[in-house]
Parts: sequence; C-alpha cells; structure tokens
Amino acid sequence: MKWVAGLVAFGVVVGAGETLNAYREISHRIVAAAMADEEGYARLAELCDRIGNRLSGSEALERAVVWSQAQMKEAGLENVTAIPVKAPHWVRGREAASIVAPVERKLNILGLGGSVGTAGVTAEVVAVQSFDELDRLGRKGVAGRIVLYNAPYRGYGNTVAYRMAGPSHAARLGAVAALVRSVTPASLATPHTGTLEYDADAPEIPAASVTVEDAETIARLCAKGEVKVHLEMDDRTAGEAELADVIGEIRGVEFPEEVVVIGGHLDSWDVGQGAQDDGVGVMAALEAASLIHKLGLRPRRTIRVVFFTNEENGGAGAEAYREWIGGRIRTHVAAIEMDGGAERPVGFGFTGTAAGLSRLQEAGVLLDGIHAETVGTGGGGADIAPLIRDGVPGLGLRTVGTHYFDWHHSAADTLDKVDPYNFKLNVAALAVMGYWLADEPGRLN
Ligand SMILES: [Zn+2]
Repeated sequence: MKWVAGLVAFGVVVGAGETLNAYREISHRIVAAAMADEEGYARLAELCDRIGNRLSGSEALERAVVWSQAQMKEAGLENVTAIPVKAPHWVRGREAASIVAPVERKLNILGLGGSVGTAGVTAEVVAVQSFDELDRLGRKGVAGRIVLYNAPYRGYGNTVAYRMAGPSHAARLGAVAALVRSVTPASLATPHTGTLEYDADAPEIPAASVTVEDAETIARLCAKGEVKVHLEMDDRTAGEAELADVIGEIRGVEFPEEVVVIGGHLDSWDVGQGAQDDGVGVMAALEAASLIHKLGLRPRRTIRVVFFTNEENGGAGAEAYREWIGGRIRTHVAAIEMDGGAERPVGFGFTGTAAGLSRLQEAGVLLDGIHAETVGTGGGGADIAPLIRDGVPGLGLRTVGTHYFDWHHSAADTLDKVDPYNFKLNVAALAVMGYWLADEPGRLN
C-alpha cells in the first residue's frame, strides 16, 4: 500500500492555482479508485489469454474489435462504434534459416513486417556493425551476399534505423537478403520483429530479424573466414485487410463537441500476446474512462477512448481516425497516447505550445501522489501523430522504461511481464490527466 503515503501529498502541495486546488480532491478519488480496481487487469488478461496477439488482417484482431466494443459498452461508455480502416495485408509464412558453412546451425528468425519472401537463398554473409562500415565495403564487397547488421543497441530510436532502412540500404549495394540483429538491450535468445520500409529506388530483398546471440555467433565466425547462410521465407503481402478503430465516449456535460482523446493501439505483432505493446495502452485507456464513469464524474468536455489499429505495420488506423473527424479536429482539445508499456509511470511528454506545456507542468501536481508528475517536451507516438501534425496538443504517457524493449515485438511480450500494481498506476495517471483536460475551465489550445 505504498501509494497511500504518497496521496497525503495532495493535501500539502503549495503554489498551484486555485483552479488546480479544486481538482486535488477529485484526483485523490480517481487514484484511490484506480489502485483498488481489479477489472482493468482482468480485461487485459482476457485480451492476452483468450484473444492473444493481433496482427492486422488476423482473425484474432477481428475478434478483438468485436470484443472491444462489448467491453466499452459494459464499462458504460456511450457512442461505441467501429471506424472502418483498410491496410495492406502482410502475411507471415513459413520461415527458416540456418548457417550452412563453416558449421551447420539453425537460426531463430522472425521475418520483418512487410518483407517479401524467398523460395530459398544461400549466400555468403557480410557482417557489419554500421551503415558506414557497409558503405566502405561498397558494391564489390556486398553484391550477391547476405548482409547481417550486427549493430549494438544504442537506444531504440537510434538502433531501429537498421531494421527500418537496413534492407534497402543493403539492396542498393547488391545484397540478396538482409538479417538484422534484434533491436533490444537484453536478449534471452528471442528474435524481435518489427516493420521495415522499402525505398522505391532499391530492389525489395527478403529481411529477417535474428537473435542477438545468433548475430554475435555469425559475426565471430565471419571474422575468421567465409560464412554461408540459407534463408527461406514464405512471407508476402496479399491484398487488403479490412480493419477498424474502436471508439467509445463519456459525453461532456457542458461542451460535448470538445474532445479529449485517450488511446493506444489494439493491433500487435504476431508473436507473444501483445501485452506490453500495446494491450496495456488500450486496456488502461478504457479503464481510466470506466473509473471516471463509475465515480459518477461527468467532465465538461467529452472523453473519447480510441483503440487505434494497424499501428505496427502501417499506421492506417491513425490516418483513418484523422479522416473520420475531418473539420472536427478544431474541437479536439488534446490527445493522450499510451504506447510505451505499463512499467511505473513518471509523467507525460508533451508536444504543443510553450504555454500549454507550462499549464500541464502545473497540473502535474495532481499526480505527485503517485510520483507521475513530471511533464517534459516531446510526447505522443504514431497513433496521435496525425492529430499533432494538424495542431492538436499531444501527450504521451512516460514510464521508467527499464525493460520495455527487452520484450518488445517478441514472443516474450506476454501478460506475466505486466506488473498489476504498475498497471494500476498507469490507469490512474491517464484518468487524472484525462479528466483534468476534459474538465478544466480553460482549454489547452
Ligand atoms: Zn506499440
């Protein structure tokens, strides 16, 4: 019950304005309700265990869309609906790879999302740690070979470039396939998938992630002589997938047309359970709204819970929501995204005006009881990017982020990685911030 001591802090904060004072008591009630709530985690368990992972175009994602609408209605949300979304349908087929010389060894791979397949290619491997190293080898050293990017993890934002741009970069130098060391700071021999981006000016070559352990093994062998790898992948893009964003609301009592979005993405990669990425985001957003409803709180503006789709391999759900609201974007007061896992929350990142930032930093005191009061710059991920692009202030929930990328996009992203206590803290942070944004007398933009 370590949160109880923290809550006392709500009563002793000094320096915040009178209007914020009015929200301390309500915030206290919301946090207490979130910490006592078992329903949110139970819903997350049902999503993970009974529906499982949810790649765009999968039958599981279709079931998740139906299930999500039922959950929103059960939670008391109004205007529950599904917004149709179309996206390219990428399908993972049978995948296999092995070192064939100088030793024989099976490799544990996952094709990268969007990759083309190959009936089978056997070629010498050239292992590099960076794009510069590959460029120095030039076409002469790369053509006809399989490139292995064995780039050490230097933060997700930096290292993910090898997964996204690596295949086309290698193809421009004549490579026949690309292997990418999993983008993760810690590995227990699980490959981490993720999407790639083919450039229009490069041949499309098959590309797969390998484990950190396998990447290191191949690199060590390459340092001693010629290494050959065989790769087979039935992966392909097959027509269009019919998907949906799911939304539900708590209608505002004074300005119902003004909207605060709280959301995450319902789709996931096709390994693990999509628990931390991003089952926690959608289930925490729903629970935040559910608790506000259960407490009988009716904010001035509408809180809209949005389960975006196709975040992982296309972003079609984010664009479809932007299109769906059209000119009503002017009445979007703020958007909060949770897509960084449910480790212990520390606050929010914000993208918007300097005035908006300083108001949010003041409002942060409403969350100091759970030590989630820090509001910094630069917040919001891919799902609210189209809203931010068109002027809506955007917030991204931030956590300590200690282990998120250990599990991300791998078979290890399962419910057991989600600590129930930390999950509740995330629900509390979303609910307090969402309620304040939807109810405060001013407006963030
Ligand atoms: Zn995600």
